[in-house]
Amino acid sequence: MKKNKIIIAVDGHSSCGKSTLAKAIADYFSYTYIDTGAMYRAVTLYAFNEGFISDNKIVDEEKLQLAIKNGDVNIDFRLNEDLNKAETFLNNINVEGDIRGLEISSLVSQVAVLGFVRENLVFQQRKMGEKGGIVMDGRDIGTVVFPTADLKIFLTARVDVRAERRYKQLIEKGKKADFESIKKNLEERDFIDSNREIAPLKQAEDAVLVDNSDITRKEQTELVVGMVNKVINK
Ligand code: C5P
Repeated sequence: MKKNKIIIAVDGHSSCGKSTLAKAIADYFSYTYIDTGAMYRAVTLYAFNEGFISDNKIVDEEKLQLAIKNGDVNIDFRLNEDLNKAETFLNNINVEGDIRGLEISSLVSQVAVLGFVRENLVFQQRKMGEKGGIVMDGRDIGTVVFPTADLKIFLTARVDVRAERRYKQLIEKGKKADFESIKKNLEERDFIDSNREIAPLKQAEDAVLVDNSDITRKEQTELVVGMVNKVINK
């Protein structure tokens, strides 16, 4: 029987191209792509702007929890039709640029360890994806958000390859970039993400491991399109 509108979970290490893959698959099957990392980044930006994060990266949990409880942290995605790309909005402001810099990247894992943050975002993510027809990328999609997802991919690449790609991306966008700082940030985030108590980054038992260090984007997309078709046509 042909299944339609399945749920596809893409988890994996930082900067290994999860969003590139997830977007390509969503485009191919006309599915919705949901970038859960952007949601953690947006909460981090909120906390940072409100002064809830100290210079030594300590988060004022009480204040952040209250703000979330009061509904002061509203995140949504809106389609930028010119770019054909969903952009992240925080309290009705487009924060797509602000959440991607090294400053927020260096704080986001500290915010993502907090149970009340995860609980709130996981609730929203489940609501966004419950009807299927989604490709969701993150760290805990196949293990926590949608443990019964129809297809789970665990994506990775060697850390030097990931840092090099990120470095080139920033340079192409005309931004300042330093290879060693980028690499250090990736290693730090992977360490915190994999070792946190709640919803640590790990490969789900039924996830397919894809290492894209030595394959092109096109090859990667073709590989996963094949996997999706197999699931749909099962
Ligand atoms: O995917 P991206 O690199 O934008 O994610 C930023 C950070 O958000 C990750 O390093 C991780 O700390 C956190 N995150 C998470 N769970 C997710 C998605 C992202 O903890 N599902």
